[in-house]
Amino acid sequence: MKKISIFGSTGSIGVNTLNVIDNLNNNGFNAEIVYLSSNSNFDILTGQINKYKPKGVIINNKESYEKLKSLNFSNTEILFGEDGLLEVASRDDYDILVSALVGFAGLLPTIEAIKKGKRIALANKETLVTGGKIIMDLIKKSGAELLPIDSEHSAILQCIVGENSKEISKLIITASGGPFRKLEKNKFKDVTVDDALNHPNWKMGKKITIDSATLMNKGLEVIEAKWLFDINPENIEVLIHPQSIIHSMVEFTDGSVKSQMGVPDMKIPIQYAITYPERIHSDFERMDYKNLKDLTFEEPDFDKFECLKLAFDSLVSGGTYPVVLNAANEIAVELFLNSKVKFIEIPGIIKNSLDNHKNLTNFEVSDILTIDKITRKQILDKF
Ligand code: MN
Repeated sequence: MKKISIFGSTGSIGVNTLNVIDNLNNNGFNAEIVYLSSNSNFDILTGQINKYKPKGVIINNKESYEKLKSLNFSNTEILFGEDGLLEVASRDDYDILVSALVGFAGLLPTIEAIKKGKRIALANKETLVTGGKIIMDLIKKSGAELLPIDSEHSAILQCIVGENSKEISKLIITASGGPFRKLEKNKFKDVTVDDALNHPNWKMGKKITIDSATLMNKGLEVIEAKWLFDINPENIEVLIHPQSIIHSMVEFTDGSVKSQMGVPDMKIPIQYAITYPERIHSDFERMDYKNLKDLTFEEPDFDKFECLKLAFDSLVSGGTYPVVLNAANEIAVELFLNSKVKFIEIPGIIKNSLDNHKNLTNFEVSDILTIDKITRKQILDKF
């Protein structure tokens, strides 16, 4: 019996995780939902409480919290906000935390679960992007396990299982290229929110969909990969692969290359993060090789997708630059979604924050929180 908590259970990863749990329970892998959390989605969360009867749920919206409490669920504790997440994360009565909170909010609850030595199935990129070194040091100390849910990192993990990490020469992270792969640079000024939310291959939340359109998502994944697999940035490559069938590749010292393939369906990496190192039967969609026409590859255009370049640069500069990159990006994306800035302005906002940052090479979690806050405020004061 595996006891599972999902932070961010009403988002795209959360809902897919619950489908995975159903599949596992239909296939002899005993999984029980212990805690669920949602930012503000009262209706979906109420449905999840009724179906999975968790021990507790956390909601981040005061009104929804009061409403949930008034429903008087007999066996489900109702907790509120970040304190609720931190409290639940540090409890003993679960085994696996699926960390699928959106953005920087994922950092502190994930750290609590790591301190308790849990398995973390990580979908929240910002945790490793901002706290990479601190997180990896804590994991070594506590014996926690970090299993990626992101399809690229799951692919890399699946390629290196059983290999000697000293014999890896390169990680090749594939990217669909997003909706603007073929758009000329001089047309970027006309991109609307709807255009940017229209991802060709993956159905995801809004923040990550915009990040996929700017390729910042790939930049964050490069930073994540550096920490997860302990690889130098110069040995990480991004390769555009529009079909999203090859989820990433690993090249070894002898020149041999392994790739992991599959339909673009998040349920596969989510299930692997839960069952690892085992595999369990699934009823998910299978690859249809005969109707698969092409697998093509292109180099990314760093000139057109400046966010990808900014992410590589801040990883190489190191220290707290990735904290600034992440905070500035989150705010720039929010401003774009609220029609306060144009799509084409996103990289400039991030670059400006990076240029004005005084780097710290030695830092703690409290520094991350301060830098994150200052970066956001400086941008918001301007718009
Ligand atoms: Mn990904």
